[in-house]
Formats: sequence, structure tokens, C-alpha cells
Amino acid sequence: AGSAPETLRICEATKTFGTGPVALDKVSFSLETGEFTVLLGPSGSGKSTLLRAAVGLVRLTSGTIEVSPKEATPSGKRRPTAIGMVHQDGSLSDRLTAAQNVLSAMVPQMGWWRVLFQAYPKPLQDKACRLLERVGLTEEQANRPVRELSGGQRQRVGIARALMNDPTLILADEPVASLDPATARKVMLLLRETARELGATVLCSLHQTELACEFADRIVVLKQGQLIFDGAGAGVSPRSLAGLFDHDSAGRP
Ligand code: ADP
Ligand code: MG
Repeated sequence: AGSAPETLRICEATKTFGTGPVALDKVSFSLETGEFTVLLGPSGSGKSTLLRAAVGLVRLTSGTIEVSPKEATPSGKRRPTAIGMVHQDGSLSDRLTAAQNVLSAMVPQMGWWRVLFQAYPKPLQDKACRLLERVGLTEEQANRPVRELSGGQRQRVGIARALMNDPTLILADEPVASLDPATARKVMLLLRETARELGATVLCSLHQTELACEFADRIVVLKQGQLIFDGAGAGVSPRSLAGLFDHDSAGRP
């Protein structure tokens, strides 16, 4: 939409791991503030590599990904960009409780010892519990070590943690991958609703075309590291999108 402010600008992002095939091949697009963009693509298309590169966990071979240090809100005000990342593998600390994992989002501000010794201010503790409640965990589950939780519950803990620092930019890497379809929809709804409340910009990777069409303002499709589609989410049919990458998923002949 023309001159809308950009939160994240990806410019010719390219990544090759060792001697492997190119994981990202000159990918360029920008996120407009407040938009919910779905990064859609089959397994191995480069989604995680792109999201991890955006937070500095992967170093690009060439090209750039810039997060603007400050972003204009839809109301026109400027504020510092805070990133909340939902990792595909969860990357939770197994021995800590769900609530401690959510609080660990505050480690940069508070240090680990407060999380480990439960010496954080009560309002933060309440906030962590509220977020866990919002993603559907009971109080009893919130106080259990995450190694005792199911895959789906762990995934929801990861989402709660990403929301803990009131992010203005949410990068979510397949946040519903291990959930059953009904729960996946619920969690996507929650993510969209929360992002709207925060006025946050979202880049959410998915491999399910139906979910992408239902939730995205905009859909960007990756296939074998290349951007092959970029368009508005409304009006795109899941079938036409699936057709984009059904053909040679095993590689070009
Ligand atoms: P997606 O998240 O869409 O499933 P990935 O970004 O994980 O895709 O992977 C894209 C490509 O890069 C795949 O071919 C994958 O094998 C390769 N890849 C990803 N991470 C690494 C890594 N750390 N080392 C080597 N190859 C990798
Ligand atoms: Mg991935």
C-alpha cells in the first residue's frame, strides 16, 4: 500500500549452508507496520532460515535484513521496535516451569538469576500467568516443568513467551505446526487478536495453505528458497496456492 511505514526490510537475502543447495535465493520483501504476513512454503523452502536470519541467528551469505529500530504505529506515533520470536522447535528450558520460561523473555532486562530464583516483581509474574492462561494453559500446567507438557502445550508456552515483552514485531516460525487443526485455528486466532491489541506487525511462517488464506493480510510464498508469490491474503484460494508448490517438491527434474 504505497508509502505505508515499513518495519522489516528484506533485500536480496541469500543463504547457502556449506555445499548444500541454496536455502534462500535473493529474497526481497518488506513488512508494512501492523500487517499480518504469512510466510508460506513446504518443508525445506527456507522459512526458518529467513526468520532466524532476521534475529541474527543465521548469517546471510549476501543481502540484508533490516529491522527498523523505531517504527511508526498505525496512529503515526513512533516507538522502539521490540521483537518477539516464536521458535519452531520451541527452544524452551526443559527443567524450568512454563511460567519461568515465559518470564525468561525478560532475561535481557532482569538477568537469569531472577528467573531461576523467582525473584521477579509480582506484576511480571502475574503477566506471565495471564499470558499462559490466554494460550489455554491451566495454573497447574503453568507451574509444571515444561518437559512434562505435551508438544502442543509447549508450543503455546513459546507463544506466550514471545508476547511477554509487548513486542511490536512478532516473528513466529510455524507456531501451530504440532497442533491438531482445531487447536491450530484457536492459536492462530489468539496470535492475530493479540497482535492487533498490541498494534504489532507479524511475520508468521506456515506450511498449511488453508490457515494462510484464513489469517493472512498478505501471503508470501517460498519455494526452494525463492519468493514465488507475494499478494493479499483476501481472495486467494487455498487451492491455487497449493498448486504453486505441489509440482516438483522433490526438486526440479
Ligand atoms: P523450512 O523452515 O521452510 O522447512 P529451512 O529454512 O529449515 O526450511 O531449510 C531450508 C534449507 O536449508 C533446507 O534445505 C535445509 O536442509 C537447509 N538448512 C537449514 N538449516 C541448516 C543448517 N543449519 N545447516 C545446513 N543446512 C541447513
Ligand atoms: Mg522451518
